Amino acid sequence: MSSSFVRGMKCRLCGQTYPISANNFCTEDFGPLEIDYDYEAIAEAVDRSKIALRPFTMWRYQEFLPLDGEPTVGIHVGGTPLVKADRLAEALGVEKLWLKNDAVNFPTLSFKDRVVAVALSKAKELGFTTVGCASTGNLANSVAANAAAAGLESYILVPADLEKSKILGTSIYRAKVVGVRGTYDEVNRLCTQIAFKYGWGFVNINLRPFYAEGSKTFGFEIAEQLGWRVPQHVVCPMAGGSLIGKIQKAFGELAKVGLIADATCKFHGAQPSGCSPISTAVKNGWESHRPVRKPNTIAKSLAIGDPADGYFAAKVIRDSGGWAEDVSDAEIREAMALLGRTEGIFAETAGGVTLAVTRKLLEQGRIPRDEEIVVSITGNGLKTQDAVADVLAKPAVIGPSLEEFVPLYEGAAEPALV
Ligand SMILES: *Cc1c(COP(=O)(O)O)cnc(C)c1O
Ligand SMILES: [Zn+2]
Repeated sequence: MSSSFVRGMKCRLCGQTYPISANNFCTEDFGPLEIDYDYEAIAEAVDRSKIALRPFTMWRYQEFLPLDGEPTVGIHVGGTPLVKADRLAEALGVEKLWLKNDAVNFPTLSFKDRVVAVALSKAKELGFTTVGCASTGNLANSVAANAAAAGLESYILVPADLEKSKILGTSIYRAKVVGVRGTYDEVNRLCTQIAFKYGWGFVNINLRPFYAEGSKTFGFEIAEQLGWRVPQHVVCPMAGGSLIGKIQKAFGELAKVGLIADATCKFHGAQPSGCSPISTAVKNGWESHRPVRKPNTIAKSLAIGDPADGYFAAKVIRDSGGWAEDVSDAEIREAMALLGRTEGIFAETAGGVTLAVTRKLLEQGRIPRDEEIVVSITGNGLKTQDAVADVLAKPAVIGPSLEEFVPLYEGAAEPALV
């Protein structure tokens, strides 16, 4: 099956059209470019039963993705669980709650595998042999792993103060990792210059229009897993502000081609208080965000001070009737622990941000307690263990004898802390 449904690229600000190439901005007004599809042709080509016969990966929605041929990178990505979270629902005092769990996405345990699968498959179609990215961690892991498996060379630039496990989880794939003494925004600016100078494919820069389309599959899966309909609320973490808009775009596309009846859904954005340009803009009624110069949060994967899609994310939230909030590091840790003890899911700090914001929006009445809520879990807690290391109970240590265990169980002795 090859996708003949792409018409080209289109500026998101002025609508100017461009042929497909490794370019992400309009030469008229520097607006971001996005892929332009022929939805009538897609509507003729797909239906629910056809999709149902395909493997449960992100590629079952291939008609909505911008490749010319079959995917060549990340063919196993996607198809993650939508978990009905009844124990967490009870703890939060709500009735209908689901977790879309990309903490178990293949191969690098975050939703970034979706965007990278599309960007690198497209990079190969366009003839790139060297690829790269600016990253807050998860994108680094995913570009490095998927590039290795595809035989592409990769250069990964990250802020030098990133979590050790995210750097290690990049180096293992033999990517060339460069730590930059600076913020993500400074790293990103440097990558733009490198991409231009050497002609490499940077997934979140000159390949960004293709990258962004991969995020839609998170939304397609939610709708299909709910039985081809959308929930009343989606809560989504925001870094660059791309994912939240792409979930909305996904729901809209499904409605446009007749796969679902109605795409009405309120989108709520979640950020850490130490880097909350988008939620601050929403809360203050600003049309666009004001950059945060020095992010300071344990949710490093969300620490983008000047988000590329900040304007669009704020608009999606506003227009859908949703809201945005931000939460402290303490609230993030507490929410990570709550998710763990109620649902047995270890999410990274970004998941703690999203859950803590969900709780805040419930308390504020922004999300009514009897409505349907999907919380987006986008990354895995094994990558950000330091965030909770000091707040969790340490195991008791005893000798290998029943005599020592019994008082522990019966509460007669304080456990020896390690
Ligand atoms: C990148 C990332 C996000 C946010 O993605 P944007 O599309 O840039 O807003 C959310 N969660 C995790 C874990 C991420 O790595
Ligand atoms: Zn334009």
